[in-house]
Parts: sequence; structure tokens; C-alpha cells
Amino acid sequence: MRFEFATATRIIFGEGTAATLPELARSFGARALVVTGAAADRAAALVSALSAETFAVPGEPTLELVREGARRVQDAACDVVISLGGGSAIDAGKAIAAVATNGGEPLEFLEVVGKARAITVPPLPFIAVPTTAGTGSEVTRNAVLGSPEHGVKASLRSPLMLPRIAMVDPELTYGLPPAVTASTGLDALTQLIEPYVSARANPLMDAVCVEGIGRVAGALRRAYHNGADVHARRDMALASLFGGLALANAGLGVVHGFAAPLGGMWKAPHGALCAAVLPHGMAANVAALRARAPQHSALERYTAIARLLTCRNEARAEDGIKWVRRLCVELNIPSLRTWGVTEADLPGVVEKATRASSMQANPVPLTSEELLALIAAAL
Ligand SMILES: [Zn+2]
Repeated sequence: MRFEFATATRIIFGEGTAATLPELARSFGARALVVTGAAADRAAALVSALSAETFAVPGEPTLELVREGARRVQDAACDVVISLGGGSAIDAGKAIAAVATNGGEPLEFLEVVGKARAITVPPLPFIAVPTTAGTGSEVTRNAVLGSPEHGVKASLRSPLMLPRIAMVDPELTYGLPPAVTASTGLDALTQLIEPYVSARANPLMDAVCVEGIGRVAGALRRAYHNGADVHARRDMALASLFGGLALANAGLGVVHGFAAPLGGMWKAPHGALCAAVLPHGMAANVAALRARAPQHSALERYTAIARLLTCRNEARAEDGIKWVRRLCVELNIPSLRTWGVTEADLPGVVEKATRASSMQANPVPLTSEELLALIAAAL
């Protein structure tokens, strides 16, 4: 066994902590670029307190958008980049802070479709303030960017890209609409299940995953049906943070392997895609493990997941899959077809998913036939 856990991120968690953000930001210098999601007005108080510039990220970030953001940072000679928003705003800010100091085209740094050029110059200090509970991007060292020309999403990745500060204030998620609560919450759950069964699973992250899965099991339904449930919101904010730590230190699997090409080819939120694929990814892994590696420890882990989700000690791996399937129905998770995916697209999706970086940590290699059946079931 070998594992590593190193983080340069100062994690600040708690209700009301966002109020201290202007003061914290000022300690990094006078000029800030504030990267926001589509609703830039949410950052108004911060922007006026800092006399900062804003940069809005209307959808999931692309190479073009990062190029433009890095130029803004250089032109305004910013000292710090702050993202206040969901995973898109955080990934955009993280990439902007890195490209601004390293120079060059964002594509050069991209894995899979780019040259994976190393980030060698430390990025500008970056502060991540999530306003959704899902991606955990505030504690990860990669930024997922879309390349419309390649029809795929891939990562810019470097240990240097870890945010300097992750400020997780559950109060910022109180106003999230149910559909966003559902898709981001299921992304968090996926990011706790996949690292827990991953080929890179390790005892330190196991503890984080088990704790996080238990919190999602108790809180996601409540947060969806009653957004004002502050305890459920707190649990989901913690689960999201734990998922980020887990994926950064233990890897992901087949569900994120599919989310990369699907998100690159169709305009759908990452969390909604993960949610649509999750029960089918779990089912395919469990079936393949039972058939080819019945002694594999990942099978016991799927059983442990089922017990955490259902709160029943006698639950079997399949009961956990059923639980997730029912949750997706209750939370109105749209099928892949809703986003425009058709049968004819699936072989191309499978081919790209096989090359995705997340796929490498799946507990068992899946055949092309298994992958095709899995994604057809999610259609
Ligand atoms: Zn995810």
C-alpha cells in the first residue's frame, strides 16, 4: 500500500465565514479578479468591498473563456483571483490563475487532447468560495475545461493549482433551487462512492468517504425538498468538501469517465450527467466484479456503501444501487436522452470515455461491450 496526502489549501468551514472574505482577500494584495457564475450580482458586496473587477462565467468553462480571463488578470495586474460560484466558476478561476502566470495557450496545458504541458510557475493566489454543494473543486488540483472543437472535457492539473484558501460557508447554498441541489448533490455522492471503490483507494480517504456518504444519505433528500433545512445544507456542504478531498487523493471511476465526453459533447450540467450514469455505473462494476473478481475488496466496499445508504445492516451491494436509482427518480434527475443524446451517439461516447483520465482508477477494467450496455441503460 502506498498513498500520499498533501494539501496547500487552508480550509475554512462554517456558517457565516464568507463575511470575512474581503479581509482575507486583501491580505493577498490590492487588486482582485472576482470570478462568478451566471448570477454575478451575488458577488456585489464582495466586489464593492474590494473594489475588484468581476468576470462572469455563464456556463461550464471553455479554453476560450480561460484565455480571456487570463488576459484580464494580466491587463489589470491582479494580485489574487477569487471564485464565488459553483464548480464552473471555481474551475475557471483556478485555470485563469495558473494560465495568467505561466503564459501560453490554455490548450497546451490540457490533458488528453492537449500537450499536458506542466504548470511550472506558481499560479496567482486563488481563493475558492463555493455556492453549490457538489463539485468539491475548492480542494482539488485540477480544473475541468471544455474544448468544443474536440467535443470533450479534460483537465488542467498541477499540485501548484490547489486553491490557497477554500472557504466553505453553507449559508451560501441556502437559496439553491431544488434541481441544482439534486444534480450537484448527486455529483458529491458520486465523488464519494468512486474514490471509495477506486483502484487508488486508501485508508485515509476511506474514512473521509464513509463519513461523506453517510451525510449524503441523511441530507440530500431533505435539502432537495426543503432548501431551508440548515442541517441538511451543512451536511451537503461537508459531503461536497469531502468528495473533493477524496477524488483528488484517491481518483474516480467509470461514472466520471463517461461524464467527461458527455459534458464535452452536450450542454448539460456535470452533476446531472453523473447522476444519470451513477446507478448504472455501480451496477456494471458490481456485475463485472462478481463475474471476474469475486474476491475483490471493491465488492465488500459496494456492500458497505449499501449499508450506509439504506441504514440497514443486512443490505447487499444491489440494495445500494436500488437506493441510488430511487433517489434519482425522487429528485427528478433527467435521463441522458433529455440532453439530446441518442443511441447512435453511444459508440463514440464509449470510445472517448475509455481514454478519460477518471476511467483509469475504476476498480475493474470494463469491456467496450459492458461500457456500451451501461451507457445505453442510462439513456
Ligand atoms: Zn464530478
